[in-house]
Amino acid sequence: MESAFEQDGCARKKWWLWGGGALVLVLLIIVGCPCKRTPPHPAMRPETVAAYKAVPIADAQREIAAWRTVATDTAVAKTVVARDNSGAARLLVPGAVELPCVFSKMRSDRACWDLVLPVNLAEADGLAFDFWCGDVTQFTGFSIYFKCGTGWRHTEFSPLKEREWHRVTIPKARVRTQEGKPTGWETVSAIRLCGWRGGTNDTELAVANLSFAAPPKTNTVEELAAEERQNLAWLKRLPTKKGEWRGFWCHAYYGLSGKSWAETIGLLKTNGFTAVVANLAWAGTAFYQSDVLPVAPQVATRGDQLAACLAACRAQGVECHVWNVCWNLGHHATKGLQDKLTKAKRTQVCFDGTVRSGWLCPSHPDNLAYEIRSFVELAKRGVDGVHLDYIRYPDESHCFCAGCKSRFESKYGLSLTNWPAQVRQDTDVKALWREFRITNITALVRGVSTHVRREAPGVKISAAVFQNPETNPGAIGQDWADWCRKGYLDFVCPMDYNYDSAVAFKGVVFSQKRHLAEATVPLRPGIGLSCWKDDRRHDARRVAEEILAVREAGLDGFCVFNLDARAIPVLPLLHIGPLK
Ligand SMILES: [Zn+2]
Repeated sequence: MESAFEQDGCARKKWWLWGGGALVLVLLIIVGCPCKRTPPHPAMRPETVAAYKAVPIADAQREIAAWRTVATDTAVAKTVVARDNSGAARLLVPGAVELPCVFSKMRSDRACWDLVLPVNLAEADGLAFDFWCGDVTQFTGFSIYFKCGTGWRHTEFSPLKEREWHRVTIPKARVRTQEGKPTGWETVSAIRLCGWRGGTNDTELAVANLSFAAPPKTNTVEELAAEERQNLAWLKRLPTKKGEWRGFWCHAYYGLSGKSWAETIGLLKTNGFTAVVANLAWAGTAFYQSDVLPVAPQVATRGDQLAACLAACRAQGVECHVWNVCWNLGHHATKGLQDKLTKAKRTQVCFDGTVRSGWLCPSHPDNLAYEIRSFVELAKRGVDGVHLDYIRYPDESHCFCAGCKSRFESKYGLSLTNWPAQVRQDTDVKALWREFRITNITALVRGVSTHVRREAPGVKISAAVFQNPETNPGAIGQDWADWCRKGYLDFVCPMDYNYDSAVAFKGVVFSQKRHLAEATVPLRPGIGLSCWKDDRRHDARRVAEEILAVREAGLDGFCVFNLDARAIPVLPLLHIGPLK
């Protein structure tokens, strides 16, 4: 049996399947790989330890300083222990190690090393280190774990640069996830670093100058101004790309606050965008005259928002895609509607029996028909596209309503004696349950595709989907790679929002592209502007960097989330930059 050390510290879902390439590797080893680039030696920073002399963490300083005296490969092998068949760490210079990611040979979904470093981090702000990331397109993300007692603390981090040494800081405040029951920060016995596999090419990481996290640096006014000038000059130098699909999700039902739809669409058009994806429908509310969905009362006073948005798009030559939230009734649905649907047993029930009256049950045939009708109605209004969102279950704990039980039993000829626990405990039933949930969600995508193409040919069908095509089917019933392979969609927008850098975004996009290799459906990644935690001064630069990553991946477009007050100052900067 594996020790707990090997089994734990793995709280991240599996990404990509292993593929071949071992033969190529052998040949490359024999003849020497022309593309292999060993990280250059980093500049060593004795000050990173010395800077903390004032802080009462002398023990921890000594421990980290001791780690930095590791000066031979033998010593490195004892201190930096490779896990999951990852390559053995190699010494670059004392205090700096190279971590080879042998993805062509490994079956594991991550390359992973433990810095066996008992350290008391109770008084420290966190951890900092210099990081070097080789081919970022081979990774879908990076994690740091702290082993405390028998449990772990965990967070993800993103490299900020490719093939260039740069400082990464991990403030303790960001380390929120736990596995098992970790003891206090004074009991850290190992620090685990993981690079999550996105591809099958070998590459390498490197770490140096491990120290405590420095408090955030405050820039002077002069430094801020200089940075702004540099960003502007950089943006101006960027090339544009002809024929690119450039969408913007717009959550606002009435256009941008204080602006008409004509002004809202005008802002997109003037600044180089080609499409709006406007959220005008939820399962419980339409912001236009609908014969299928309940109509928002404001439509009577503020007018039909679909008509207004569409007219503005037509006048300015911008594509109009309507974003319709599936299953979720939305915040504007009345209590009366929720009660009526719950009474009709059309809403979801959680594993623990709680009624989720805001979500329609996907396996209920009336709900499926209702959703399809809402998309067909929209498509026939003359829009360029219909866009499925929330095309999934809320999570693994839904839906366990009585209707799901009987429809599940009748579909597979089962008679369950221990519902709902049986679908989690019995391996065979569990596999069927997984398939049942995927089938229910896919039925809506297939239904929309069939009916919209028949009744409103030419209208594009697209979907906003979660990031991970491999784990999404089991977790939320969303098998979007399958929808792409079967041609149900005309394009797909993974919501690639939750990364700290454009470099990490790029790794995810390349992995998604590889996953869709057999499909011809365009992948148009979602850029998460309004979800980023970073300092807003860098918004335009970061959107531009992600657009460049989309282009580098050879994709034909992207969609930015979301058109709001934060986006307004970014638009003209993109226009002088990659959207000239
Ligand atoms: Zn149900």
